[in-house]
Amino acid sequence: MTEHTLTVAGVAVDPRHWIGGERVASAGTFTDVSPIDGRALGEIARGTPAEAAAAVAAAKAAFPAWAATPRAERARILHAIADGVEKRLEELAIVETADNGALLRSHRRGVMPRVAHNFRFFADWSLTLDHEDFETRGHTNHVSWDPAGPCVLITPWNAPLMLATWKLAPALAAGNTVVLKPAEWSPLTASLLADIAAEAGLPAGVLNVVQGYGSEIGDALTSHPDVRRISFTGSVPTARRIAASAAAHLTPLSLELGGKSPLLVFADADLDLAVDLAVEQYDNAGQVCLAATRILVEETVAEEFTRRFVAKAGALVQGDPREEATDIGPTIHPRQLEKIDGFVRRAVEAGARVVVGGHRRDERYYAPTLLTEVAQDSEIVQEEVFGPVLTLQTFADEDEAVQLADDTRFGLAATLVTGDRERADRVTGRLTAGTVWVNCFFVRDLKAPFGGSRHSGVGREGGTWSFDFYCDLKNTVTAP
Ligand code: NAD
Repeated sequence: MTEHTLTVAGVAVDPRHWIGGERVASAGTFTDVSPIDGRALGEIARGTPAEAAAAVAAAKAAFPAWAATPRAERARILHAIADGVEKRLEELAIVETADNGALLRSHRRGVMPRVAHNFRFFADWSLTLDHEDFETRGHTNHVSWDPAGPCVLITPWNAPLMLATWKLAPALAAGNTVVLKPAEWSPLTASLLADIAAEAGLPAGVLNVVQGYGSEIGDALTSHPDVRRISFTGSVPTARRIAASAAAHLTPLSLELGGKSPLLVFADADLDLAVDLAVEQYDNAGQVCLAATRILVEETVAEEFTRRFVAKAGALVQGDPREEATDIGPTIHPRQLEKIDGFVRRAVEAGARVVVGGHRRDERYYAPTLLTEVAQDSEIVQEEVFGPVLTLQTFADEDEAVQLADDTRFGLAATLVTGDRERADRVTGRLTAGTVWVNCFFVRDLKAPFGGSRHSGVGREGGTWSFDFYCDLKNTVTAP
């Protein structure tokens, strides 16, 4: 503990940057506020371009030794980080909930175990990458997966540590060094992770964490000539700025962006399953990029579907995310809630009918909402709300279902509920989406490619695709 240390829900958190294996303060700070009750959690280092540059310099200095460390040794250290995450799982869960307002029970049972799994999975996967050899007219081709260099990872607030480690683990396992910039609305668990990584024996400078506003330090990171990869998860407008900034040095980008995914319910579906999956879209108060926020139901079952949906949604408990019984917590920030409310008000003015919710409970909690009688080209159908707001439209047949499902500028995911496997295959083949779930939702294997098409992203990460991105593949041709 130092005079800088914050105590958040009983857990000590250092609010300073972590650069080159040392805690570094900034002249300025910003206030981190809990979405649960608006209470200030503490003052966090407000990074400047100078600190961003110092973090890249530290990552650059640490790169040669880490890149030369045998893969098996890197994997051992990543497993030690996973051990540290598991040892401090309860603390990480409590701090993440205080910081971003998502459910404590899901942090405890789903998210933080998955954070540890991210390290274990990518550590092990790095050992399976073949150094492939093949022959050309007697010459040997030797293909190797070389680490790329310092990587900048920029992450959002809706699943802070899970999304950060989904990038961090493969980047480190591949032999890269990293500058991580967490979102300013959820800066705390990245700082705890820096402590855990140091305790696990990760050498100084291999992981650096810079806190602050993206608008103030983003450019210094993304336009830096020594940065070899940028992986970003966040919104489309920020992605545009990052792409423009990265263009200066043609730095390769991985962009995981927003969505407006459909949930298609055919008349031959198990309707209870369809309703369960639809109501699940309110998870994390709707702040999930993959959420299927556009429910499309075949006309003949729309009335029955809606009746069952209303009953099930009505039973959801909204409140303090630390309570075991709570299903839906707060929105990240009153500003975000204002945005959500604006979307709903404009939709209603444009003729939408409120079936469920449609109002704020207070300045932090927005009631789970279902709107119907919405036009395909309306804002509420076309734009990502990033809150607990779903729309319901009907379709007459498969062609119309596909046409409505595919008619946005996004392409992150789609969910189909149908009893007909052949229909599922046909429809899946016609949809633009990085992930399609058939009669299920959110089943994710780290081996699978993950990403979006169109405005939902550029590139794929996951399994070998992560190493494709974080490595420079090299082919060495040797004469006989
Ligand atoms: P955001 O774009 O506002 O911020 C994301 C991060 O970018 C933050 O760390 C922020 O500080 C940083 N940033 C802001 N301006 C920057 C700049 N000029 N240069 C560099 N970095 C900058 O997004 P958000 O509101 O935090 O997150 C919500 C969005 O993220 C939604 O659109 C959601 O769909 C998307 N998301 C996508 C996925 C996915 O995997 N596809 C997952 C989660 C969230």
